[in-house]
This record gives sequence, C-alpha cells and structure tokens, in this order.
Amino acid sequence: MASNTNRYQQQQQQFENFTASALYCEKCRAAMPVRERLLLILPDREIFDYLCTGCGSSVGQREVTAGEKSMTQAMAERRARRGPLGVLP
Ligand SMILES: [Zn+2]
Repeated sequence: MASNTNRYQQQQQQFENFTASALYCEKCRAAMPVRERLLLILPDREIFDYLCTGCGSSVGQREVTAGEKSMTQAMAERRARRGPLGVLP
C-alpha cells in the first residue's frame, strides 16, 4: 500500500522586503533585523543607513560604490526618491 501525504508547503516570505542581515542594536541589546535606508548620494558612491526594526535607531552604515550598485536590487525602489543631498559644488 502506498500512502501519499500531500502537504501545502507554506513558504514564509513575510520578511522578503527586509534586509536579511541583522546587526547588534545597543538599545534593544540584541541582534535585530535591520532596514536599509538611503542616507546620502554621492557621484561615485551611495551611503546606506541601517535602522533597527525594533526601535528605529541607526545601528550601522554601509557605502555602496558605483560598481556594487548594479547588484543592489533595493536601488530600483530608492531611485524614485531624490533629495538635495546629491548636489555637490
Ligand atoms: Zn533596536
């Protein structure tokens, strides 16, 4: 006798929009998942700020050079928001 058990594979993708990495937060005193936020736009690089999803405080920063920009999928979303920070003398 062959008994087949069909189960629905529930894929938990609720954190798909969040950054997979987690950084240590001093306020939460634990490694918390972080959100990547575009902080500063420079001609050759862009600086991202990592915000704790628990308390919203900044827990780290990261520079993304022009070479790495193509690998960052988040850029497609952030590109819509343009601030005056990109203007240099
Ligand atoms: Zn926190």
